[in-house]
Amino acid sequence: MQTNLASWARETDLGQDADEILRRCVHCGFCLATCPTYQLLGDERDSPRGRIYLMKQVLEGIEPTTATQTHLDRCLTCRNCETTCPSGVQYGALVDIGRKIVDEKVERPLTQRLSRAALRGLLNSPLFGPALKLGRVLRPMLPEVLRNKVPQARPAGALPSGKSHARQVLMPLGCVQPAMMPSIDAATVRVLDAVGIGARMVAGAGCCGAINFHLDAQDAALDQMRANIDAWLPLLDSGEAEHIVMNASGCGAMVKEYAHHLRHDPDYVVKALRVADKTCDVAEILAPHAAQLKAMLADLPQRAAFHPPCTLQHWQGLRGASERLLADLGFDLQPFSESHLCCGSAGTYNMLQPEIATRLRDRKLANIGKTQPDLIAAGNLGCMTQIGSGTDTPIVHTVELLDWATGGPKPKALERG
Ligand code: SF4
Ligand code: SF4
Repeated sequence: MQTNLASWARETDLGQDADEILRRCVHCGFCLATCPTYQLLGDERDSPRGRIYLMKQVLEGIEPTTATQTHLDRCLTCRNCETTCPSGVQYGALVDIGRKIVDEKVERPLTQRLSRAALRGLLNSPLFGPALKLGRVLRPMLPEVLRNKVPQARPAGALPSGKSHARQVLMPLGCVQPAMMPSIDAATVRVLDAVGIGARMVAGAGCCGAINFHLDAQDAALDQMRANIDAWLPLLDSGEAEHIVMNASGCGAMVKEYAHHLRHDPDYVVKALRVADKTCDVAEILAPHAAQLKAMLADLPQRAAFHPPCTLQHWQGLRGASERLLADLGFDLQPFSESHLCCGSAGTYNMLQPEIATRLRDRKLANIGKTQPDLIAAGNLGCMTQIGSGTDTPIVHTVELLDWATGGPKPKALERG
């Protein structure tokens, strides 16, 4: 596509980055067929090609409006379009730039500014845990959009008794996962321990930055990334830890892209590359241990559906990795239609765009429901919460399932089974 950027855009790093991406788009429209918002809304401006055109207009000097902002807001950043695009258009990087520029030019209504600031503050705060406990008490009285974000408590269970292993990895504790579902981190530690890998948490590290990044605070997010790099890299460089293991695919996707986000920071871009290079999803590090895990299998459910989070299949390109691991272990996985489509979770999207998010969740559940699984597995807390809010079928993290199958506690979600 030909572009003619306004001088203010041509002179900035972000403008030049955007121009390079825009020029790759040939306007073929292949991406429309796999875009969830276009599928639901049928408006070209809610498709990847339409949004690309809106961003091109802004970079060429046409003033954005609240309508421009709305169409960019409705994008789930699922990156299904990137998987589909034959020209390799990096839509995700482009929409990050487009949103930043549009948000600087179009002031959001006060209610939106307040809700975004409240989400940033709460999800990044040490008060999130106590607030969640209160939310669980008040759960029956909460409006549906909030109730859906407050899953029932799942106890973590006992951790391994301190056996030391030659192989050590870092396991970042996400911002909300330890309070919302501590069973996921505990199960990860137990399963890694079972295959001879010790996991340790690191002081000084915190949220991966995704919350701030996607809620209009990109500079604060970059500071969080730098702090994490400073906490993790010395341990990786010294050989005290071999990998950073992520059990939330949204956070894993973000950390793997640290070098992209810090590309204009000469002090951190190389460090970020080294961190990203050592980061892997829990399914990746466990894959070579499938036979070892299989030898320990204690119990198996009958039929399971695996929901591949967008951040696993489209962002990290790990489509099939968790499925292969579960199948290798003997789980009877049920394929279902449209597994490439987002469930509507998308970070805080389901709170900011609840109507679209709920329609996507129900579409996902209708497809999964046709296979009548005994349980649903996923690799990301956000997807688990979103999908779980619309079904009685138990939903568990992949690693909770592995933990149970290898002698760990049965996930609370499965207790009635
Ligand atoms: S598929 Fe790729 S090249 Fe074609 S319109 Fe979509 S983004 Fe552009
Ligand atoms: S990221 Fe997802 S929702 Fe956004 S344009 Fe691409 S396919 Fe559509």
